[in-house]
Amino acid sequence: MTVMSTAEPARPANGTPPDNRGSADHPAVLRRMAERTLAWTGPIVVVAHVDPDGDALGSSLALARALRQLGKRAVVVMEPPRYLAFLAEPGELSPALDALEPDTLVYALDAGDPQRVWGVPLDQAAAVFNVDHHGTNTRFGDLAVVEPSKAACALLVKELIDLLGAEWDAAIATPCLTGILTDTGNFRHGNTSREALETAGELIDHGVDYVALTDRLQWRHPRYFHLLGEVMRTVRYDLDGQLVTAYVTEAMRAEAGAELDDSEDFVGLIRNAEGIKVAALLKERAGSVKVSVRARDGASAQRICLELGGGGHVAAAGATVEGDLEAARAALTAATARELARLREAAVADPAG
Ligand code: 5GP
Ligand code: MN
Repeated sequence: MTVMSTAEPARPANGTPPDNRGSADHPAVLRRMAERTLAWTGPIVVVAHVDPDGDALGSSLALARALRQLGKRAVVVMEPPRYLAFLAEPGELSPALDALEPDTLVYALDAGDPQRVWGVPLDQAAAVFNVDHHGTNTRFGDLAVVEPSKAACALLVKELIDLLGAEWDAAIATPCLTGILTDTGNFRHGNTSREALETAGELIDHGVDYVALTDRLQWRHPRYFHLLGEVMRTVRYDLDGQLVTAYVTEAMRAEAGAELDDSEDFVGLIRNAEGIKVAALLKERAGSVKVSVRARDGASAQRICLELGGGGHVAAAGATVEGDLEAARAALTAATARELARLREAAVADPAG
């Protein structure tokens, strides 16, 4: 099992530019993946990253449904947040597995390294196929297709499903479109491409109820808005107004209701603060802080988060920092200051650039 050789992800050292190039042979590897999948006789388990988002769940549901239509035994292992749970049929998702059956193929979607894959013992897989769009992906697995130019992992899954020869219907197209919608922020983020828009159009043609889907994806628990109010009270500007942060404490979440795991998009609100280059939401967890970072104007959330031991995309990345909120804020502010200094130096070196 080659996944073991990558159990220790080769993280770029601090300051080393992550590899945001795609694999030149991606169409060939994707074809090979499709061929091996069609020939696979054992069970297939589809998983994605911890704290799944719309791309993680949408990509996984679309692929597993296509595989089942083709007669494969395929299951998604995932516990989605409340606001996404409507996408899955009752009983369609499996809780985490302690063990894998012999001859199991695992598809790891939207996950940059084996440690971020949630819910399966990867080392028990007969084969691991890695399909992702994070530049910080360690290219783990027996076959890996990593395309940072793709707005969503769901765009790669769309290509894969075409290669598998499954017949598109609304049940497959709806979660696939969800991945594109959520990772592009409903076509508002900088990763929105002609490909994303065209693929969305194609998926809508397969019977997606677009209006109902975008509406439903934005529903939040009634108490969410109380939590939102508390979190927005913590908004603060640092580094001459170029960094905006807000935080969520465990007490705030407990007050709002423990089942409220819908706070993921708060950072999407403060990223719109005028004049900022970097936005971050700090989420207190037991003993550590999850940091969600968004960047614009040439600043790289990815570089900031690599410094903090995490990863992600240039415009959107994350990390988990040990310690309390103040320690996490200090580490984030220092890493952001270095990134902004790098930007200033780059502008001096290449004023036209
Ligand atoms: P979010 O801030 O929404 O959790 O994550 C933003 C992006 O960065 C997502 O694509 C997510 O997969 C990635 N990401 C978040 N946290 C981590 C992390 O700790 N490590 C890595 N490698 N990627 C992360
Ligand atoms: Mn994604």
